[in-house]
Amino acid sequence: MSREILSQTGKGVSWLANLVIQESGEEINRCYQCQKCSAGCPTSFAMDILPHQIIRMLQFGLDERVLTSKTIWLCASCETCTTRCPNEIDLAKVMDALRQIAERSGVNLGEKDISLFNSAFLASIKKRGRVHELEMIRKYTLKRGHFLEKFKSGELIRDVRLGWEMFKRGKLRLLPQKMRGKSEVRGLFKRAKGEGR
Ligand code: SF4
Ligand code: SF4
Repeated sequence: MSREILSQTGKGVSWLANLVIQESGEEINRCYQCQKCSAGCPTSFAMDILPHQIIRMLQFGLDERVLTSKTIWLCASCETCTTRCPNEIDLAKVMDALRQIAERSGVNLGEKDISLFNSAFLASIKKRGRVHELEMIRKYTLKRGHFLEKFKSGELIRDVRLGWEMFKRGKLRLLPQKMRGKSEVRGLFKRAKGEGR
């Protein structure tokens, strides 16, 4: 996003809106609240703030409410909203930028478990070039904690049963698969972080 566009769009909007425009490259001020994005969103039923409301809140500078929302973590990046938007706003990209900013900013995340899962998933891909499910589950479970609650509620037993069913169907591998191109994958992570350019 160029400085000119930032300076045009930056007038009267919050630091978060400016940062989102900068990081996603999306011109959120084009949004005229037609609500087509929210109407087509498959996970909107579980969201605390609808996608079109996220944009409106960004325009109004309600930064903390946006960054602590569950919505940004419940977005499945399916891009239905992106396809439906008459103003060509890629809302999936906006949500992605918001997730990254929320993690960096140290606010209380609206869906901490999803964020932990996200980190465990990406860490496994970064290390091996593709996800190794058992390793990812181990990391996620250790970071998440709550073993006692999970045990008491029966959730742990349900997870083990589900894992066993997946293992029987060949969906969980005990050992990671060898993969070529690991260094290229690491290079992608570096580029995404703005290193090595
Ligand atoms: S579809 Fe586009 S213009 Fe309509 S509310 Fe959503 S983001 Fe705004
Ligand atoms: S990308 Fe996210 S916000 Fe957009 S329709 Fe899909 S789940 Fe909803």
